[in-house]
Amino acid sequence: MSVQNINVSLIGNPNTGKTSVFNQLTGLNQQVGNYPGITVEKKIGFCKLPNNVKANILDLPGTYSLNASSMDESVVIELLLNKNDKLYPDVAVVVTDVENLKRNLLIYTQIKDLEIPTILVINMSDRMERKGITLDIPYLEDKLKTKIALVSSRKGLGIDELKELIVSYKNIAHEPCLNASVIDPEYFEHLQKAFPNQLMYKLWLVITQDVNFSNLDRNEVRSSFTKSHSELKRLQQKETIKRYQFINDVLKEGLKIDTSIAKDIRAKLDRVLTHKIFGYVIFFAILFLIFQSIFSWSTIPMDFIDSTFASLSSWVAEELPSGILTDLLSQGIIPGIGGVIIFIPQIAFLFLFISILEESGYMSRVVFLMDKIMRRFGLSGKSVVPLISGTACAIPAIMATRNIENWKERLITILVTPFTTCSARLPVYAIIISLVIPSKRVFGVLNLQGLTLMALYVLGFVAAILSAYILNKVLKINSKTYFVVEMPSYKMPLLKNVGINVVEKTKAFIVGAGKIILAISIILWFLASYGPGKEFNDAENIVKERFATTALDETRYENEVASQKLENSYIGLMGRAIEPAIQPLGYDWKIGIALISSFAAREVFVGTLATIYSVGDTDNESTIKSKMQAEVRPDTGKKVFDFATGISLLLFYAFAMQCASTLAITKKETNSWKWPAMQLVFMSGLAYFAALIAYQLLK
Ligand code: GDP
Repeated sequence: MSVQNINVSLIGNPNTGKTSVFNQLTGLNQQVGNYPGITVEKKIGFCKLPNNVKANILDLPGTYSLNASSMDESVVIELLLNKNDKLYPDVAVVVTDVENLKRNLLIYTQIKDLEIPTILVINMSDRMERKGITLDIPYLEDKLKTKIALVSSRKGLGIDELKELIVSYKNIAHEPCLNASVIDPEYFEHLQKAFPNQLMYKLWLVITQDVNFSNLDRNEVRSSFTKSHSELKRLQQKETIKRYQFINDVLKEGLKIDTSIAKDIRAKLDRVLTHKIFGYVIFFAILFLIFQSIFSWSTIPMDFIDSTFASLSSWVAEELPSGILTDLLSQGIIPGIGGVIIFIPQIAFLFLFISILEESGYMSRVVFLMDKIMRRFGLSGKSVVPLISGTACAIPAIMATRNIENWKERLITILVTPFTTCSARLPVYAIIISLVIPSKRVFGVLNLQGLTLMALYVLGFVAAILSAYILNKVLKINSKTYFVVEMPSYKMPLLKNVGINVVEKTKAFIVGAGKIILAISIILWFLASYGPGKEFNDAENIVKERFATTALDETRYENEVASQKLENSYIGLMGRAIEPAIQPLGYDWKIGIALISSFAAREVFVGTLATIYSVGDTDNESTIKSKMQAEVRPDTGKKVFDFATGISLLLFYAFAMQCASTLAITKKETNSWKWPAMQLVFMSGLAYFAALIAYQLLK
């Protein structure tokens, strides 16, 4: 007996419950990766079947038909055409939704014609009664030449029967549903003569689709059987019509709907939720609630993580013998890992809400509402979620772009999302606004500082939308804009689906971005902890000499040493090296250090300045603030943080790409360093010029 696992491919239209069936079959035994070279997600799970048979279950991307119009669909076709592929299915399982059988069966008939043993899953059987649907299963099995599993993945019904069918897949007929030659008898006769050993429908796909096909030279097939593009299109349409005729005939007998039962609250709900005015009001109210919750609920676990890692660091520093390794651990690695873990609450909460909105069917309505507006800027209705999630953090936001099918729209969304004001900018904005914007009221009620903060948020959104507009004009990417908004029926979200989604997304972040955040934290630690010359290495004596005549208390002395070291560390030298470049923006070398270190993460800005200005207790904001307020320029004696420098800094932080984690996640999601490099150069360039102009005009 062979011990090899059988390969099962799950195929089906989006929203048929394919993922739910997959989750039912595999539980958490899943591996998520990418197909090589492209960003389509590849999910494989494992499942134990009756009689000790094991199966690899491949969850293929949702597909409407075997006519490739997106990367997702090409993946499906390439697999089904390549018998040599490791994952080539022994059996295909096509998942359909009982309420949309007619549309869902199209791809079923196509796969059947590739003569792969195919099992038909009719899912959502729990809704049949309410909708007044009855099915004649034996009749359907006969006409569709297959075995059918009537399943409710929500209630876990019919899953065991499905497993039985998978085990005995060898009993399933290989016969096609439609004879491909009906598409164009004469043409197909020639084709068959030229390639007698090939399946006709396979040949047809090779001719019409841009996919790789290992056993056959596509050019060979094409060159001898060319037809004009429009002729091919016409024949493809003919194929679709023939298939629907077949499906209609089968369903006329096999499926009955008692319309008197099928009263629908869906239509009523849709009328409100996609209403010209209320639709938007409701959507923004929901968003408002979500962001309030993300902010307020995340603070508790985030503070906890923060303090845990801080005490872990100091514990390590005290308990382990002092030396480089201990320093690396307590100042580089542990804070680095903490810097990864701290994002988890926000990511998990955000994906919890997004999954619930998606699962319930509401997200499709939002996409429908926003699509018209977003499209003008080269974005999709689906870009709304990432752009708004970006106010919490760009990392989960960029991960949320995955459900934008069109690659160009998805790429543009990824590229512009970091402009939205994320929570890491908040501490920087807060301290600079409090330094340079007077706290007075305008029009009696509005606080000027609050208004400035809001203006910065608006600025972020405007920058995102405008860059999208430009990118849309500049980027030459051919991706078919064929947009299907599914309007699935409203459903209670399935806890299992939501849970798995949250776990998967969080895991993807930790593994993907985590490594890079950690690496950069270690590099920064190194640059700040070491310096080349005597100025750094002999800091203690230098400070002692300098203050030979003044009495220094312990803290003051330590601060002076830390400050001397920082100034002469590698990063300090870098700060001074870039001083000429940032002087026109109104910054000195100390701000330069903070700028450099905050290219790894913006929120480091305040902390770095605190260290530089020798403030021992970084938590005490008033001290940092008063120190910053007191800083004067040695040449002119004027304040460093005056109005012009303040505005210049605000603009710089609003636009600059200062987040290694975002760059890492962009690399992961686009599979290339080109796009994060572009983000870095473009955004930081814009930041530089905006800050330059502001300072020169205001100084
Ligand atoms: P996919 O897009 O095909 O992967 O579909 P999902 O598995 O994400 O499911 C789409 C929607 O259908 C979700 O809201 C699920 O909760 C819901 N769903 C899945 N299976 C069933 C089912 O058996 N019955 C009902 N009523 N809803 C289901």
